[in-house]
Amino acid sequence: MKWSPTCLCAAVLLLAACATQPKIRGAELDALAEQLIQYAADRTDYEPLPPPRIVFVEDVGDVADREISAHYDGPTIAAAGYSTRDGTIYLANSWRPYNDQRAELLHELVHYLQHLQGAPLCRESLEREAYEVQRQWINDNTGYDFPDEWVEQFVPEGCD
Ligand SMILES: [Zn+2]
Repeated sequence: MKWSPTCLCAAVLLLAACATQPKIRGAELDALAEQLIQYAADRTDYEPLPPPRIVFVEDVGDVADREISAHYDGPTIAAAGYSTRDGTIYLANSWRPYNDQRAELLHELVHYLQHLQGAPLCRESLEREAYEVQRQWINDNTGYDFPDEWVEQFVPEGCD
């Protein structure tokens, strides 16, 4: 079975850690974003930046620029996305600070750093880098130990 953010959340739910997470917004969300940006900056060539605007919507797929990212938890609802049109991260209203959803936010923050720091990479490379930082964070912060190959299931080889 392929790993997906939804699957991970279900696994976490079995550990009874999933149901107690409250929404976080405002300064608390910015503080989390700052931590995640620093994590990404420490593992890439990007400089840390202040957190971007983060907007909550019902379906991220309706607003995020799919040219760079809109990541789907299911067939129709996108959970997180970064728009290069307005430099904004969009999260689904259902987003909570569970580890798997923090990892999704981290992934989009990597796209934010890529975008503002002019990453000269093709889309596959952008995604590969974002998933690789996400993989490291999951391994560092959860009981999971995803191998390098975990990234490959999300990103096709090569660039168009
Ligand atoms: Zn992405």
